[in-house]
Amino acid sequence: MRRRKGENTRSVHLPAPEPPPQDPLGPPVWRSSAWHFGDSAEYAEAFDDKSPGYAYGLADNPTTASFASAVASLEGAAAPEDVAGQAFASGMAAVNAVLMTFLRAGAHIVAPTPLYGGTHSLITNVLARFGVGADFVGYGELSRVRAAIKPNTKIIYAETLSNPTMAVSDIRGLYRIARAAGALLVVDSTFATPIVCRPLEHGADLVIHSATKYLGGHDDCAGGVAVGRPDLIAQLREVRIDTGGTLSPDDAFLLRRGLETLTLRVRRMCSTAMVFAAAVAKHPAVRRVDYPGLPGHPGHQLARHLFDSGPEGTRYGACVTITPRGGYDAGVALADALKLVPIATSAGGTRTKAAHVASAAHGRLGEGSGVDAAAVRFSIGLEDAEDLIMDVTKALDSLPPSGR
Ligand code: PLP
Repeated sequence: MRRRKGENTRSVHLPAPEPPPQDPLGPPVWRSSAWHFGDSAEYAEAFDDKSPGYAYGLADNPTTASFASAVASLEGAAAPEDVAGQAFASGMAAVNAVLMTFLRAGAHIVAPTPLYGGTHSLITNVLARFGVGADFVGYGELSRVRAAIKPNTKIIYAETLSNPTMAVSDIRGLYRIARAAGALLVVDSTFATPIVCRPLEHGADLVIHSATKYLGGHDDCAGGVAVGRPDLIAQLREVRIDTGGTLSPDDAFLLRRGLETLTLRVRRMCSTAMVFAAAVAKHPAVRRVDYPGLPGHPGHQLARHLFDSGPEGTRYGACVTITPRGGYDAGVALADALKLVPIATSAGGTRTKAAHVASAAHGRLGEGSGVDAAAVRFSIGLEDAEDLIMDVTKALDSLPPSGR
């Protein structure tokens, strides 16, 4: 008589699902963190990357890989060379892996001011302990970047659009400096997205995103991604595996799904941001509006050259920073008086959010970051522009006259 396996064995050795005869239109989520092999030789080959395939979830996963290659295809649409990608558990995991891969003790990095606070902190608080030197300079004048270059400069780091001043990087100019210095140009393009600008087309070696923002676009998952030449990405993969920070398949699924509506979302957000910025700039309680779409913004001309346009006009990004008259308290009062727009972290989601910058980022942006104590950043979402303008106008109207 055939012996029946024990109940516990039966539970964990359930029949494997048959592969479907048709290809699913919606990509599957491959949740498995482990893979099984026909024999030890196959196991060894897969583990040593001698044959294509998957060996261990930390190393690679088909869902995660499909997100990375989707971003590579968007960023590399017209890039001069092949583009590959690696996905990470967060934007900071991507930034960290890139810097750990291409810097070493004794190396030097030039980075901008302002710079995302987490990246600034990584460079000054972590990498400095491992013997990496850094200089932070305003990128408004390229002569400052040139002057900061040292014989050991290995990376020029930039952000296509920086938060919250919305400064625009002269990627082509930075590329020329990087080439002359023998350094890599690494560009964090989180606030631009490939729908606004694709830095690889302008000479960047690597492009990084906090996918948590626009790529995912719904404030329901976190991730990061880096794309660039396959030989650079292969080195990055090794460091990702060594340091962890791998993206989960569930988040990769959501991030990849977000990409399907990225163009629609970003185009609409950019055109709403333009209308919003222009309307708010006229309010008497407003001292300054930072938005590259406004002709007075220092990055306006550069953005017109670098950024894509469509029938709706040039896309200048979808974050607008409003500085009311009256200092820190006026900024807090403005954010607190909003009714439709919530005070919330992050950016790039479907709903518009506001954040009084100095309340959260105080002390993290570095000296000379150009961030005003009253600045309130708006990440524009998909609402109707009129409703957003009404909400911020009422909030500005409510500011005490002393603040004007
Ligand atoms: N880069 C930029 C420009 C960011 O704004 C952020 C997060 O706000 C990051 C990187 C880090 O991304 P994450 O929060 O996904 O780690």
